[in-house]
Amino acid sequence: MDITTEGIVIRETLQGENDKLLTILTPQHGKVTAFAKGVKKISSKNAPACQLFVFSEYELIEKFGRLTVKTAVSKELFYGMRSDMTRYSLACYFAEVLNRTCVENDNETEALRLFLNCLYALSNKKEIKLSLIKSAFELKLMCINGFMPDFDNCISCSRNADYKSSTLFSFEESGILCSSCLEKFNKSSFPYSCTISEQVVDAMKYICMSQQAKMLMYNISDSDIKELSFICENYLIHKTEKTYETLKIYKSILNSLGEK
Ligand SMILES: [Zn+2]
Repeated sequence: MDITTEGIVIRETLQGENDKLLTILTPQHGKVTAFAKGVKKISSKNAPACQLFVFSEYELIEKFGRLTVKTAVSKELFYGMRSDMTRYSLACYFAEVLNRTCVENDNETEALRLFLNCLYALSNKKEIKLSLIKSAFELKLMCINGFMPDFDNCISCSRNADYKSSTLFSFEESGILCSSCLEKFNKSSFPYSCTISEQVVDAMKYICMSQQAKMLMYNISDSDIKELSFICENYLIHKTEKTYETLKIYKSILNSLGEK
């Protein structure tokens, strides 16, 4: 079946001298694999739109049982993050995660929109902390995949999850303990868990409930963002049952630059 669709390349594999095999994230068809002939050649008119992290309009035709790029016209290149190693490596991490969570032949409109919003912030919103963009991506993606944490009801007794300054967040149960259950808390009941402060519960609630356009408009202190970042990252790793090579690269770049 031929497809005309918008999409963004989330993975590319070189094939021989001049060709590429692309994984394109599309709204209506989910992840699509397409062969792009000759796009390594400087003369190829499809070359600009057949690169990683370029949002484009693709015309894909079925040829010898596989999809092949007929035409590709770029719409947004996200220039602002391409020359910045840290930002680019964070985009690579987002792409590796999407490769894990997105499926073929399914509607991935929300995941695609999330990726585009985060790439836009990486490119154009230098005032937003990278850790906030990363945390929002991780948590929002988990919400899209049906793992929105429940901060209203206790994961143990199901009553209203009132708590004082901090409580326990369970990655496994996707929620928190109320204050009376926290007093009786036994670590073996919630092995995949960590302490969470009131401020970080508020930040996570905000990200979960806000529209994507507003999810990055949250003022958070440097100490709270460290905790937020730890929890969102480990929540995603727990739910997707995978560790990410690109995340290690992102962190090693941050460390080498001495950034937070
Ligand atoms: Zn409880």
